Amino acid sequence: MRVLVTGGAGYIGSHLVDALIKRGDEVLVIDNLSTGRIENVRHLLGHPAFHFINDSILNEPLLERFIPSMDLVFHLAAAVGVRNILHDPLAAINTNVRGTEVVLGLAFKYWKRLVLASSSEIYGKASHVPFREDDDRVLGSTGVARWSYSMSKAIDEHFAFAYAAKGLPISIVRYFNSYGPRLDERGYGSVVANFIRQALRGDPITVHGDGKQTRCFTYIEDTVAGTLLAGEAKEAVGEVFNIGSTSETSILGLAETIKRLARSKSPVRFDPYEAYYGEGFEDTRRRVPSADKAKRRLGFTPRVDLEAGLKKTIVWCREHFAR
Ligand code: UDP
Repeated sequence: MRVLVTGGAGYIGSHLVDALIKRGDEVLVIDNLSTGRIENVRHLLGHPAFHFINDSILNEPLLERFIPSMDLVFHLAAAVGVRNILHDPLAAINTNVRGTEVVLGLAFKYWKRLVLASSSEIYGKASHVPFREDDDRVLGSTGVARWSYSMSKAIDEHFAFAYAAKGLPISIVRYFNSYGPRLDERGYGSVVANFIRQALRGDPITVHGDGKQTRCFTYIEDTVAGTLLAGEAKEAVGEVFNIGSTSETSILGLAETIKRLARSKSPVRFDPYEAYYGEGFEDTRRRVPSADKAKRRLGFTPRVDLEAGLKKTIVWCREHFAR
């Protein structure tokens, strides 16, 4: 198959590209290296089945040159990471809304199957877990920039459902806190990257708030497996799926586990949210996916437990993070 991966030089995108190349597909990546990095795909440069274009998904004429010849599109290019969004909400909204409008519009025009990468951030601060795909979303005020990410992804999903209603074969995956090798060292989108960096340097491991907020950390192999299934399974068409582990971990628990696995002497320090995100930040207290639908329709079950995944991630970070 000929496959386009937007955002294919990103953390998740590049692993997806590896899996596609491994199964024998020909892959085109379009990525403007905003948060993606060429290092993530450097090993593929020169591979006969791999093509890379360093450009934005907002470049519609460029996309229109390539989408007609594709069999499948994975749309992962987006502004990601809560801190990234807070840093430049305008750019984030533009990329996530306008960019998806362009990619989905062309998939519709040339009638291409597409998988849209969305986020567990969609559920906002809903307090009723686990989150089922058809649950209500609970968001804070528009004065709180964090929620613009959830909103932009929700608009993307609405676009996708609107095209699906016209018959276009589209599927949506909502990622839950993916982690693994190639996480951005700056910790933009990931507490795991932050904690590992701090643990390896011997710096304090900075737990925000009381550390009792929870996430379901999902190893990259599982994230990619779920994404591939969403692009293959007949039952995936027109549907949205949670792609995540159901094992709930507190942030303090994560800090302690990383400290132990990295054999670090770092102290664990409790920091107020404001110190990191600025005033008026709102966090999601618990985030747990319902895994039923992905299991039933895609046959997807996450396989890698947290300690096994963290060990592999720490090995990679030891080699690649600046010390
Ligand atoms: N977090 C933390 N210390 C850090 C970075 C993040 O305690 O150095 C917390 C953050 O406040 C949130 C959780 O870890 O409660 C997950 O944050 P992340 O940015 O990884 O992703 P989110 O799930 O919020 O999108």
